[in-house]
Amino acid sequence: MSTPSVDTFDAFGFAPSVLRGVRDAGYTTPTPVQAAALPYALDGIDVVGVAQTGTGKTAAFVLPILDYLVKEPSGGKRRPIRALVVTPTRELAIQVTEAAAQYGKHTGLRVATIYGGVGKGKQRTALRNGVDVVVATPGRLLDFMGEGVLDLGFVDVLVLDEADRMFDMGFIKDVRKIVAAVPEQRQTMLFSATMPPPIQDLAKSILYKPETVEIGERRDPAATVTQRAIRVAESEKQALLERLIETEDVDRMIVFSRTKYRADRIRKKLDRAGFNAIAIHSNRSQGQRQRALKGFEAGQYQIMVATDIAARGIDVDGVSHVVNFDAPNVPEDYIHRIGRTGRAQATGDAITFVSAEESSNFDAIEKHTGRSIEQVRIDGFEPPALATALQNAGGKKRSNPSGHRSRQKSQGGGRNSKGRAGSGGRGRNGGRGQR
Ligand code: AMP
Repeated sequence: MSTPSVDTFDAFGFAPSVLRGVRDAGYTTPTPVQAAALPYALDGIDVVGVAQTGTGKTAAFVLPILDYLVKEPSGGKRRPIRALVVTPTRELAIQVTEAAAQYGKHTGLRVATIYGGVGKGKQRTALRNGVDVVVATPGRLLDFMGEGVLDLGFVDVLVLDEADRMFDMGFIKDVRKIVAAVPEQRQTMLFSATMPPPIQDLAKSILYKPETVEIGERRDPAATVTQRAIRVAESEKQALLERLIETEDVDRMIVFSRTKYRADRIRKKLDRAGFNAIAIHSNRSQGQRQRALKGFEAGQYQIMVATDIAARGIDVDGVSHVVNFDAPNVPEDYIHRIGRTGRAQATGDAITFVSAEESSNFDAIEKHTGRSIEQVRIDGFEPPALATALQNAGGKKRSNPSGHRSRQKSQGGGRNSKGRAGSGGRGRNGGRGQR
């Protein structure tokens, strides 16, 4: 262990009002990313955090922001924006804001959330009234900058959250424009689940002598998630899902589908089969999505069916299962999806359905994560062997249109692929520690 011993939150020297917020949140022990990042972040040093969602990374950057703002108040009667967090999606922006409001409830600091898809009025009013921290998605933030409603000239701390996702969603140009509007003298923190070359380039150009904090292997899904895969014919997926809900010990489940249309169909069928399910995707209005999320959080719905973008940044505790109804064709999505369960200290199960057509997606996921995922069979659900055999023999691809189930003894087995947590990648190279 190369970090100082930080097994309680008392060791960091937080301002009392911030420490009270942490205590109220019920946290006693810092998570690994917090233990590793907080000492640097609190010193004003730039940080690259390679950590997935679910690791507690939000507090790793929100707490230092609050601590700094409490200890170095701006003084004037006007409240300039002194910290800016940029996130890829509105859901993540809302969640970061909620976390800041929760940890900062004794600080008197004001936080505003800025995102598109809703009217501008309320956001504009909040900005005009003065806020200390802005959490924003890039598009709407640029809109307000263009309108002159928002001045980033006093920002001391800049955070880019889920930078890889911002890149995937095509926001990097926007992000660079935003960074250009923030003073050069600042602390910058960049968090990302993965560090592909474009994100490394971005980090190189906007961070100053950063400390890198890496939690787990870069491509290793959260170590608290047990991963399994089930080979199944496309036409059998719905029945298999329903079987799993009945036989697994499901508290809350998120089911991922490839498209909005499929998400709605899965939800309707679950409904008809008597399960409490809700769908969340980008065709829904912001209000509908928030209501769906609240209903899921409150336990009104046991199952949430989601598409990748809609589920991004969803932070619900107690998600016991993630089911990939469709094996994602982008391996990074796999990591993001299964990160919805096993959050912080809890454990979770991730189950991926793999049809014959999705075999290559599954291979790519295993290659990307660098480990094999345990393949299990469920009684009554025959893997689409014929189609696979045909494919392997170079024949025509064939799905299983008949949808007949053939009897097959269930066999667990396979390799267990529990992940490991570890830290590393830290090298002292100083830092300016000034803001
Ligand atoms: P994040 O990775 O920031 O989305 O956090 C994942 C979950 O972990 C959230 O529900 C947090 O409330 C929770 N969490 C963060 N830090 C801690 C901690 N030190 N102890 C317990 N839970 C935590």
